[in-house]
Amino acid sequence: MSGVSPAAAAAVAGISESELATLEAAGTIPEKINLPELGKILGLHPQKLAALASGWLPSPKKLSGWRELRMFTTRSDELAVNCYLVWDSATRGAALFDTGLDARPILETIAAGGLVLKHIFITHSHWDHVEALPAIRAAFPNAQLHSGSPNVPVNQRNLPDKIVRLGELSISHRATPGHAVDGVTYLVSHWPQSAPAVAFVGDAIFAGSIGRGNQSWEVARQKVREEILSLPLETLICPGHGPMTTVAEEVESNPFF
Ligand SMILES: [Zn+2]
Repeated sequence: MSGVSPAAAAAVAGISESELATLEAAGTIPEKINLPELGKILGLHPQKLAALASGWLPSPKKLSGWRELRMFTTRSDELAVNCYLVWDSATRGAALFDTGLDARPILETIAAGGLVLKHIFITHSHWDHVEALPAIRAAFPNAQLHSGSPNVPVNQRNLPDKIVRLGELSISHRATPGHAVDGVTYLVSHWPQSAPAVAFVGDAIFAGSIGRGNQSWEVARQKVREEILSLPLETLICPGHGPMTTVAEEVESNPFF
């Protein structure tokens, strides 16, 4: 990402190149490593990087504040991917954010709650986030699909230009490319009991990290800073992989910022 050679990175960190390779591959941290210096040369915040290496995690989130919000983590052999369902308790209308790998737990929750899926929002079109889309669409052919589409400029995509309402809830979007050219973050606000807004970010940002800059590392980092970390500090961040976090926790602890 930063264009620094492994030899240069290992040298400032005070470890061998093979130790650096093991760290990158397995997360094994050599005892004598100088993480703050490694962070500096890589463009990562030195103290935040060191804190992350000593086990920082976002606090566990109690979803009781957002009663109509569910997280689904579906797994394959190599990875685990999150998707999320929200609904309005009065109208029973629901919205799904990405589909994950398996439609079954989502469809079961929809059926058990007597919900009707009205909207499907896609954060980006990487396969692990849309694998179950055909099954979901077959079950709810009338659900409206919202996504950025690759090969089309950001300002011409088939995203709602207005706020989408789901009963009391309102859903807006902001472009967060960088990890994927069609990266979009959706923001759901006006929850009952004034629960904080929830941002569905796909792979733009993770707890303590960011998604790989497939399109551009620079754009990825800049969009997260401008479009996500500028949200109110209490905003709940729901990433495509790993635990939920908040804007406050990422501002304080994410070494990319
Ligand atoms: Zn992705």
